[in-house]
Amino acid sequence: MNRRDFLLTTASASVTWATGISGRAEGPSSGAPRNKYFDCHVHLTQPWYGDERSIVTVDHLLRWMDAHEIAQAAVLPLVSPEAFWYPVTTEFVLRETHPHRDRLVPFCAIDPRTIVTHLPTKQDVVGILNRYRDAGARGFGEHKPMLPINDPLCMRLYEACSEVRLPLLFHLDNFANMDAPGLPGLDKVLTAFPELVFIGHGKGWWASIAGGITQADLQVGYPRGPVAPGGAIDRLMDAHPNLYGDLSSSGAHAMLRDPKFGREFLLRRSDQLLFGTDYYDPATQKEFAQFDLFRQFELPADAVQAIGQKNAQRLFNLA
Ligand SMILES: [Zn+2]
Repeated sequence: MNRRDFLLTTASASVTWATGISGRAEGPSSGAPRNKYFDCHVHLTQPWYGDERSIVTVDHLLRWMDAHEIAQAAVLPLVSPEAFWYPVTTEFVLRETHPHRDRLVPFCAIDPRTIVTHLPTKQDVVGILNRYRDAGARGFGEHKPMLPINDPLCMRLYEACSEVRLPLLFHLDNFANMDAPGLPGLDKVLTAFPELVFIGHGKGWWASIAGGITQADLQVGYPRGPVAPGGAIDRLMDAHPNLYGDLSSSGAHAMLRDPKFGREFLLRRSDQLLFGTDYYDPATQKEFAQFDLFRQFELPADAVQAIGQKNAQRLFNLA
């Protein structure tokens, strides 16, 4: 398929889906019919740090989504003290997204250390997650505490997420959800909770697309060069169908660093990957390599639709 046919195919396939939500769109979202992506990873922010050009308000986010053909986006809180410059609470995300739920899909988050002092039983954790879910949350995350990924407190959190059936998006590097090269801790987590959908994100997760890496490599944002065989991601995705990848942030670079590997990975994992950007700062984030994945690799339309929107719709019960 040449580039023009590819673009036409993906555009016409997406219009049918996007039109379904456009009837409820308001204000900045009036251009929704041309939009085709589900972005699984964005943040709303507040003026507690940096300058005002960095703030992502709801109005800004909807206009930015329209400019980038993004029909719907998952809006992720950040509640762990190591996760962001200040907490972005679940309550803030639920409130801000409330008038725009046709386009903004809220997630919820709990720092697992809360379990020590305030949520001592499984039913306590399940109870709060149920309330978040009833208020509109469709997933859990961004899970980003400075704890081992299989820390006992995290395991108790995963147990509750599994019971409430909230897919969990985690950030993995040497400062959050820490693990060893080859991700043996994540393997234990996935084995313990086969019913819970886990969505991998972050430097350490995407560095693990390659084999032969060191602990220090789990903290490198954009590793370059060919992907060495034996990576943990393919191995874990083969063993655990509940494992998915979030292509935001370092995800696109993990595909583009070795284009041959990247294209084949996108094709063979097209049912386990989600398009995303990790947009949180208009002042510094101008270009997104994520859009290049579809343009450069000329993927078949069904793979573009799966990665670009359908996998997310299925996981978050939006179809
Ligand atoms: Zn993020």
